[in-house]
Amino acid sequence: MIDITKHPEYDNHELVSFFFDKKTGLRGVIAVHSTTLGPAVGGTRYFHYDSSEEALEDVLRLSRGMTYKCAISKVPFGGGKAVIIADPKKKKTKEYLKSYAKQVNRLNGLFFTGEDVGMSFDDINILTKECPFIIGTAKKAGDPSPWAALGVFYAIEESMEVLDKKKSLAGYTVAIKGLGKVGMELARLLYERGVTLIGADIDMHCTKEFLRRFPKSKVVPASKIHEQKVDVYAPCALGKEFNKKTISELNCRVVCGSANNQLFNFKDGLLLYKRNIVYIPDYLANAGGLINVIADLDKKKYNKEIIRKNVHKIKATVREVINLSRKNKQPTNAITDLVAEKFIFKNIKKN
Ligand code: NAD
Repeated sequence: MIDITKHPEYDNHELVSFFFDKKTGLRGVIAVHSTTLGPAVGGTRYFHYDSSEEALEDVLRLSRGMTYKCAISKVPFGGGKAVIIADPKKKKTKEYLKSYAKQVNRLNGLFFTGEDVGMSFDDINILTKECPFIIGTAKKAGDPSPWAALGVFYAIEESMEVLDKKKSLAGYTVAIKGLGKVGMELARLLYERGVTLIGADIDMHCTKEFLRRFPKSKVVPASKIHEQKVDVYAPCALGKEFNKKTISELNCRVVCGSANNQLFNFKDGLLLYKRNIVYIPDYLANAGGLINVIADLDKKKYNKEIIRKNVHKIKATVREVINLSRKNKQPTNAITDLVAEKFIFKNIKKN
């Protein structure tokens, strides 16, 4: 028997539930990290993991990140996440998705979930019919990606304003890794403001589309994108990007992107700090997606303007984090965690 509490990524998670359905081949894990602030929320990732250990590590890290993302966004929800271990030989059938909906239903509202890497809008619509705990549905909040991109954009804008005291982003250069739903929208927001873009993706369709939409831009191989001499490097592909080696190769002043879990380890934040690179932690920069999807759980009518105002608040937190980091001479990832934890503790006392 494995002792999950000994896992290096285990952080007093409230629930870790493995599931397997013989009939459809569905296999995965749901992790609820904390419900201190409210029911857990977090997307469902459908991904080709090499092993179930890899899937477990991912879900433990991602669900913890959701707790911090909710806290830093000051919303009354906790952190959770689900991963489905994709079988490359099989397609996601309706039966398969229905079987997953059953797993979420079992938790009876402890965990609300929606779209993440590998899950399409069509998949979400199927799940919605089978499960009342699905958020980010087409009927209300819809796709979180443009909101996640807007949050990253605001975080970049604020970082550059704190650094250079300049209101406009025009003239800066930003490198974006991953030109998918978030990366492409971020590119649009930046390009429209006169930012020079360098992009990379392992999918040629994405790089072609990027050059078609933003013709003054450049594309480089994915393995070289982090080395580009730019003002901002925006990782918008997958996580685990920064370690001793990649950090030493960076040639930017700010790292700010949507990819979850960008640091290999917490201490890599210190390496970025020592290199004088301002790192905006992923869960702060990409919180726009969360801010949008939780509107599905609000009884009030969905209002885009209110969502925009709430996403805009990311700017104030980015400023607070950079200033506290400078004042206390501590890496921004440590400061952001502290700000989030302070919010959680304040709310434990209140409840
Ligand atoms: P996506 O799947 O639409 O796009 C990811 C892109 O990255 C794809 O085009 C893929 O080809 C590319 N990619 C993968 N590996 C790469 C590599 N090694 N080098 C270069 N490109 C690579 O996903 P998305 O929805 O745009 O999300 C991007 C990241 O942001 C993910 O880490 C996701 O967890 C995170 N995120 C997304 C949202 C959201 O609302 N979509 C919200 C918060 C966080």
